[in-house]
Amino acid sequence: MPNLTDEQAAFAAAIADFCKRESGTREQRDALTDGGADLHSQVLYAKMAELGWTGILVPEEYGGAAAGNVEMCILLEEAMRGMAPIGGIGPTLITAAAYQKFADEQLKKEVLRGVAAGDSLSISMSEPEAGSDVANLSCRAEKVDGGWVINGQKTWCSNAHFARSILLIARTEKTGKKHEGLTQFHIPADTPGLEIKGIDTLGGREVNDLYFTNCEIPDSAVVGEVGNGWDQLMSGLNTERLILAAMQLGVAERSFADTLSFITERKQFGRPIGSFQALRHRMADLATEIECTKLLVYSVAQQADDDPTRLLPREASMAKLKATETSKRMTIDAMQMMGGYGYATEFDAERLMRGAIISTVYGGTNEIQRDIIGKTFGL
Ligand SMILES: Cc1cc2nc3c(=O)[nH]c(=O)nc-3n(C[C@H](O)[C@H](O)[C@H](O)COP(=O)(O)OP(=O)(O)OC[C@H]3O[C@@H](n4cnc5c(N)ncnc54)[C@H](O)[C@@H]3O)c2cc1C
Repeated sequence: MPNLTDEQAAFAAAIADFCKRESGTREQRDALTDGGADLHSQVLYAKMAELGWTGILVPEEYGGAAAGNVEMCILLEEAMRGMAPIGGIGPTLITAAAYQKFADEQLKKEVLRGVAAGDSLSISMSEPEAGSDVANLSCRAEKVDGGWVINGQKTWCSNAHFARSILLIARTEKTGKKHEGLTQFHIPADTPGLEIKGIDTLGGREVNDLYFTNCEIPDSAVVGEVGNGWDQLMSGLNTERLILAAMQLGVAERSFADTLSFITERKQFGRPIGSFQALRHRMADLATEIECTKLLVYSVAQQADDDPTRLLPREASMAKLKATETSKRMTIDAMQMMGGYGYATEFDAERLMRGAIISTVYGGTNEIQRDIIGKTFGL
């Protein structure tokens, strides 16, 4: 266990209590999510906003809590462990961090105050031809008098169907070097010329294609500097990796706890199945993996708090890699240990697994994380 202060431990307990009260039962979660089809409940998120949690990293002057990365990880870990259906929180925190660093004062006031009040945000980098090689993107923004005109397609944009606005990374110049000539734009989700279409997935209503057709936006929509989009993106990826890691840590812990209670109760051959060495050892290994993950995630969060200027590419990629591989393994093993019951939608095991298996893909696949870690060793 990482060493939490009394205040941090009380914060963790408050979130756990909130989740139990508001979304602790399957009936409550079904009511909040249209029977599990939605990954995000705005009703629940608004309650968390009232408690000051959605603006966890937002500076106080914009209505936020101005807390650190450790507190952010506590919030995400506990919310996911409590199975609170607030899938919008990850992309929102990732995107808000970019506005906090690069947006002008007027945009900060608008967007960050909204986040503290419970707005969700999306970030859109990926395109059909630009996934892992995201700098290869071609959605273009052309300069016109007083603003920009956007044309092109984006894909896999999480939560755009309920987000207040989207942070778009578009090409503003072709220089022959793919990392140059990219710019970030603030796009309110209801901007004419933007069409948002859901993609059917195993996860439910989560990701979207975005189609921009002569979509006009003002000069004030530029976030940061024209042409500096790639560097701005890179400077935020470490926060993104920490956010995803903390969320998957919570998923793994929930899956472990549910599995433990199932294998303690379920009897075969006249004894609890958890008493068979095959299962006991498997659970021991998983508990060890989860504990390692927890220590790593909180160590990276603490390092980020100790020196906010450090980018921590190796450490943040390790945290994302370790947490997502652990939650994937935990949730798949849970299915095996629960036998046929893990497969039944009556239990949460299959939902936890569907969420965990894709976590090794988004936010930079784990192959790409390994590449980043390898590069930090000069390989
Ligand atoms: C649920 C979900 C949510 C998402 N949310 C967002 C979002 O909000 N915003 C956004 O912009 N994007 C989002 N994405 C996109 C996500 O970041 C990409 O899916 C991811 O980066 C991989 O790109 P790809 O799917 O095109 O796969 P590809 O890049 O085609 O990769 C396919 C396989 O090849 C491997 N591969 C590719 N290149 C290499 C290499 N150089 N070395 C080794 N292996 C390699 C990959 O690791 C992967 O296993 C989301 C995706 C999903 C599935």
